[in-house]
Amino acid sequence: MEVVVYPDPRLLRKTAPVAPIDDGVRANVAEMFRLMYADHGVGLAAPQVGWSVRLFVINPSGDPANKAEERVIINPVPKKKAGKVIGEEGCLSFPGIYVEVERARHVVIAWTDLEGVPHEEQWSDWPARIFQHEFDHLENVLLVHRMSTADRMQHAEALDDLRREFEEA
Ligand SMILES: [Zn+2]
Repeated sequence: MEVVVYPDPRLLRKTAPVAPIDDGVRANVAEMFRLMYADHGVGLAAPQVGWSVRLFVINPSGDPANKAEERVIINPVPKKKAGKVIGEEGCLSFPGIYVEVERARHVVIAWTDLEGVPHEEQWSDWPARIFQHEFDHLENVLLVHRMSTADRMQHAEALDDLRREFEEA
């Protein structure tokens, strides 16, 4: 497994619900956490490792020692959104590119964890932003799709570099 980088078409494959949660899923999740921390990320969605399912892993602290903040989010459903806030986002599939993205400030979300237990919670601010970014990946919406025209112009060279590296690989 490796983190796939834009414009890899695996980022745009339709995602299927995860079922059942078996040893294969658990092994992939462990590997995703490893890759996320290796790249200093706070979230990683299954399509970013070429696995086309509705699952992502997060740790809003970004600290591998802070296991209490790790969440495995399986088959998530956003239930409610409130407020708006603009903040900077990066993406492990767009290395070196950071853009301001408007997101809901609060989200009510439902999901299943790695033990198969259902959850429903309200998240706000940073964790809510991470949720919305990772959920976008499951819907095949990428950072480049969230960019304004000005962002795309500002990052045109970096995006061209990524496309060229992908063609050459
Ligand atoms: Zn991302």
